[in-house]
Amino acid sequence: MANIKLENIEKRFGDFVAVKDFNLEVQDKEFVVFLGPSGCGKTTTLRLIAGLEYPEEGDILIDGERVNDLTPADRDIAFVFQFYALYPHLSVYDNIAFPLKAVKVSKSEIDTQVKRVAEILQIANMLNRKPSMLSGGEMQRVALGRAMVRQPKVYLLDEPMANLDAKIRVDTRAEIKRLQHEIGATTIFVTHDQVEAMSLADRIAVIHQGVLQQIGTPYEVYNRPESLFVAGFMGMPTMNLLDAELTAQGGESALRLSHTDVYLPLSPQRQTTISTAAQKNGLVFGIRPEHITAVNQPSERSIAADVHLVEPLGAVNILDIRLGTHLETQEPVLLRVRTHPTFHVTVGDTIWLNFNETEIHLFDRETERVLS
Ligand code: ATP
Repeated sequence: MANIKLENIEKRFGDFVAVKDFNLEVQDKEFVVFLGPSGCGKTTTLRLIAGLEYPEEGDILIDGERVNDLTPADRDIAFVFQFYALYPHLSVYDNIAFPLKAVKVSKSEIDTQVKRVAEILQIANMLNRKPSMLSGGEMQRVALGRAMVRQPKVYLLDEPMANLDAKIRVDTRAEIKRLQHEIGATTIFVTHDQVEAMSLADRIAVIHQGVLQQIGTPYEVYNRPESLFVAGFMGMPTMNLLDAELTAQGGESALRLSHTDVYLPLSPQRQTTISTAAQKNGLVFGIRPEHITAVNQPSERSIAADVHLVEPLGAVNILDIRLGTHLETQEPVLLRVRTHPTFHVTVGDTIWLNFNETEIHLFDRETERVLS
């Protein structure tokens, strides 16, 4: 199988830099997901690995061999793109069989393989149809099937499930994960869907504006974001991010939310020393909605707040909480909190919030990098 290495890759389109100083190593058999918003450079990076684009700077290595100058065919890579291209004159069966016929696999082996993937992708009943007789989602599954019958060194999958409806998408996702594990092929999968990324990846590479922001396990990128971008991108609802300053209140350290008189007291264990440079740049305080506990009674270090909105989502409720008021604009300062549906509150109620201090993230407002 294969190890892929990108070293200082840069890709430009005219003056526009689509991929900037990109360094990444994907281990043999690893499942890496490229995740980021539209236009961040995911597809371009994938196309560079496939050999469909060439970098202006840097090297691409597969198993230690520099492949910058190799054609896609010489890289032994199977790819499935969102905009799949099927052979219109061939049946579904022959479209899937195509890569195996090209390398002269026996007829009976082809038959076994085609039927196996057709079964997995739930297209076994349409093997005789032509692509023009299929829906978009079905065509996409045929394109996936065509990649799955091969056993290449590397799979590159670019939003291969974009056209599938929700249920088939979840089933196919599970199948892709199981299959990748079974075949053990190094896989890079592009998506802008964080749930898909979290559920599939061994490691997620979060990309923003052509820059690799962070590479880590789903746990790491979710729980230990290294930049403001990653913190704000991962999670549904997203992390609460508010400008803050480190101050002293009653002899103890506290975080004061900027332009408010809201202070979040910090316990001695959590007292942070922050460099003067970072203090000067300003801080952004972050905490996920599930790391705040809402209760009906005040307690030590809890802070009082009003319920602004209740969103019942079934298994959980999301509360928009009004922590205070912006002293200049008089706008409410809001925070989202996740609660159990049995915690009954209505708009206007006063509740008390306890912040799980070990889950507080502090970022430098200027560099946007994590401080703690
Ligand atoms: P999406 O999720 O929308 O597919 P993406 O993250 O895959 O987005 P890319 O397709 O890699 O993004 O594009 C990155 C940037 O490079 C975009 O701003 C895009 O407009 C630009 N770009 C891509 N291909 C070209 C090209 N051939 N010529 C000029 N600009 C391009």
